[in-house]
Amino acid sequence: MNGQILCLNAGSSSIKFALFEAGAATKLVRRHFGKVEEIGSDPRLTVKDASGKTVIERRWPEGVSSHESVLEDLLTVVRHELPGTDLIAAGHRVVHGGTRFAEPCLIEDDNLRDLDTLCALAPLHQPHNLAAIRAVAALLPDLPQVACFDTAFHRGNPDLNQRFALPRSLHDQGIRRYGFHGLSYEFIADELHRIDPGLAKKRVIVAHLGNGASLCAMHDGRSIDTTMGFTALDGLMMGTRCGSLDPGVVLHLIRQADMSVQEVERMLYRQSGLLGVSGLSSDVRTLLESDDPRAQEALDLFCMLAAKEISALATVLGGLDAVVFTAGIGENQPRIRQAICNRLEWLGMVLDQTANTTNQTSISAVDGNIAAMVIPTDEERMIANHTCRLLWNPSP
Ligand code: ADP
Repeated sequence: MNGQILCLNAGSSSIKFALFEAGAATKLVRRHFGKVEEIGSDPRLTVKDASGKTVIERRWPEGVSSHESVLEDLLTVVRHELPGTDLIAAGHRVVHGGTRFAEPCLIEDDNLRDLDTLCALAPLHQPHNLAAIRAVAALLPDLPQVACFDTAFHRGNPDLNQRFALPRSLHDQGIRRYGFHGLSYEFIADELHRIDPGLAKKRVIVAHLGNGASLCAMHDGRSIDTTMGFTALDGLMMGTRCGSLDPGVVLHLIRQADMSVQEVERMLYRQSGLLGVSGLSSDVRTLLESDDPRAQEALDLFCMLAAKEISALATVLGGLDAVVFTAGIGENQPRIRQAICNRLEWLGMVLDQTANTTNQTSISAVDGNIAAMVIPTDEERMIANHTCRLLWNPSP
């Protein structure tokens, strides 16, 4: 097959996309990539070419801000304004695959209906993921589309690690820990194997620290445990999400503080985390530049909770050989990495200051017991690889 695979990663206020050339080369070649940000308020499109040079920048006229219209326009740009685009497939990040989807799948009417039922479990993401699939189908009904699930990488986790301490019947009904960011973790597992195959076989914790944040404990490249659970609210403190929380707080807010379920949901997903604690911003860059003590407190809490969860996952793994940082904060914020690693010194974690401040791949000091690394993630490439494999090179 020859042509391009369009990868779409549709979130609540942004759509990231990439076009990969499938052809003679064994590795898919990324031709263009970009994103639409601030959907819902003032959408902005940026498209870059393979070298990272911006080739299109565009704003929408006032009043045009819905996901549907933005997606439709994005598809027009992709098909008609980028040179040489001949789409042969689309691959999508779909956040929740429930218990049924442990592997990427070709989208058909019946599995799309099944995926609709999982929207309640990922209200911030799943409806947008599925809307992107429907928008592509409406415009290009014959284009094969593949769904790649963020939960799939964790489906093989030991049963014990998927359980909540709730009545058994609820687990059997699907109230269990699913875990997310699986496409990112799978990509990092492959990259680590390429960079240091010996280390990849050992006990590794990957810290995906972006607006959404989670940890994955891996052994021999497979997920063993992860901090996100039934929904993408659990685990680490995030940009606007609270992370782990005493469920009694939710009961109290609904019963005593007279908040509606919708209000509590909005608060937990959109008004908590770094934004909620600082009262200023969900963006680490803004908080690091601020001299407001609330900004520092929010960052201190973020780092302390991340270190605490790393220690907990090290216990699940029975020890720790490496920590890999990835995503926006993990890849670009040495001060946050340093603050997290300082709290792990008792485990034998020591950073090389120069390597850390210059975002090198290996950032640990030679006299430490635990390797620390920075590996950029690429969820869109993982989607492209899965799409290509499923459509043209199925496993025996
Ligand atoms: P998302 O989960 O939306 O994909 P990102 O992975 O882009 O989020 O992470 C967003 C966070 O990463 C923000 O807090 C931001 O401050 C930080 N970040 C992203 N890119 C950079 C950068 N180039 N330099 C410094 N910080 C960055």
